[in-house]
Amino acid sequence: MEKINSINPATLETVGQTEQTPPEKVKEIVLNAHKAFPQWRGSGLSKRSRIIKEAQQLLLAHKENISRLITLEMGRPINESLVLEVSGAIDIMGYYAKRANKFLDDRRIPLHHMLFKRRKSYMYFEPLGVLGIISPWNWPLLIPMGIIVPALLSGNAVVFKPSEFTPLIGHKIRDLFIEAGVPEHIFQIVQGGATQGKALINAGVEKIFFTGSTGVGHNIFQQCACLLMKNVLEMGGSDPAIVCEDADLDITSSGLIWGGFCNCGQNCNSIEHIYLNEKIQDRLIALLIEKTKQIRSGNGLDNDTDMGPLGNQAQLEKMEDFVKQAQEKGAKVLCGGNRIDKKGYFFEPTLILWDKSIPQPINKEIFGPIVLLTPVKDDDEAIALANHSTFGLASSIWTGSKKRGEKLARRIEAGTVMINDVIVSFGIAEAGWTGIKNSGIGWVHGEKGLDEMVNIKYINRDPQSHTQKLWWFPYTTKMIESMKKGLDLLFSKSISKRIAAIPGVLKSFAGYLFINRKKKDKM
Ligand code: NAD
Repeated sequence: MEKINSINPATLETVGQTEQTPPEKVKEIVLNAHKAFPQWRGSGLSKRSRIIKEAQQLLLAHKENISRLITLEMGRPINESLVLEVSGAIDIMGYYAKRANKFLDDRRIPLHHMLFKRRKSYMYFEPLGVLGIISPWNWPLLIPMGIIVPALLSGNAVVFKPSEFTPLIGHKIRDLFIEAGVPEHIFQIVQGGATQGKALINAGVEKIFFTGSTGVGHNIFQQCACLLMKNVLEMGGSDPAIVCEDADLDITSSGLIWGGFCNCGQNCNSIEHIYLNEKIQDRLIALLIEKTKQIRSGNGLDNDTDMGPLGNQAQLEKMEDFVKQAQEKGAKVLCGGNRIDKKGYFFEPTLILWDKSIPQPINKEIFGPIVLLTPVKDDDEAIALANHSTFGLASSIWTGSKKRGEKLARRIEAGTVMINDVIVSFGIAEAGWTGIKNSGIGWVHGEKGLDEMVNIKYINRDPQSHTQKLWWFPYTTKMIESMKKGLDLLFSKSISKRIAAIPGVLKSFAGYLFINRKKKDKM
């Protein structure tokens, strides 16, 4: 059986190995999940909540080992592994375990129409079945956890394919749930890359939850379309930050630097473009350069490291290529721009002044430690540049004015807008997460994320089980005349028309009651 080597991007040493799942075995895995599903579905929400809480306690107990493994496998600083990934995952487990009961309870739909007012009307939630989850390497714990937890809680079985760059964390995640009491076939894992991902989509799962690049998402969407398979796609971004002239520049520059270089800029919601007001251009750019130069790059296992390496060789080459092309187009590198001369995929945090006269590379995701700075004359120009992108994932606005911030937030084309902060909304359990345009389809996190895991069935019950309905056969001229009068009574703007309709409506209503009384008497 072929092996996957997990490589530490800071040292290029092997962290560990795991077996690739043979693609031809994936169907059997999914079949086993289907067989196990009815029992899990029937196990009851309170039992499943208890298991999720138990898994949460296990993650808490193993927080140091798991943070360390994240850093070893994909390079981010240990601080981020603990504060952003592990703590985010612990929180989301508690959030869903506590609230799933409320979210999945029958949702009453009161009916406004006088003919239906007495009916019982509600939405009923039931699990979909077997869900396929395909995840990226850049947030190898929090991203899959935000999907696996609500999927299991709502009674689904899960087949999870972690990224081929972070297979060991994938196994750890499964171990936590199995140890907590999830049955073996309810949470299974498929290890490998694109081949295994494709095999999973073809293996008979009910829905695919994919997080990754827009290019791959596009392929997956096509594959799902051929199978008429539901999907949620969380894809790439090229996220703008708009800085108004009334922003606190010291605080804002620190926030922008973090938003651009946290996780070595390898977040779907990293700041890639800063549109800054010309009035504050000199001061803000000076602060950004000063703070970028203070970022300490190094091995993420060192507690003082601010920025780790890129995730892999391809990422490193992509950054070098981007800087070269930017310079050829006339953009000016303000600081950084080069690979760091040591073992590992290290690249300098880089700021590039990108004058608005040079076409903006807004439809290409940078996904690394490069941030472009574009001075603009006002908010309108910033919004126009930001909205020109074919992506629409996350964005941020930096201003001292509450009114201005919220006004701009409504105009920006994105799934998420943060005002005076960046990135962390992804870790706020209640905040649903989605992308618009080429950034996504469907939701994860919060109540909307849970809705993606279930069939939402509408149920309507007439308490009058012996009643013949007005709209049933036989059709008659009398019925048409009554309906015309009924419509006048209910909807006419003219009071006199409404009043005139009353006798006809009462007459047909009496006839209707008479028919139903006769039917009842016969029974
Ligand atoms: P990727 O698209 O290369 O891979 C993602 C996953 O898809 C991996 O598990 C991979 O093995 C699998 N895969 C690849 N080709 C496949 C195919 N043809 N069929 C089925 N599965 C396939 O992405 P990546 O490099 O792992 O992650 C980085 C990308 O993810 C960036 O573009 C980033 O913006 C995006 N991302 C988006 C979000 C979001 O929430 N919108 C979050 C994190 C990352």
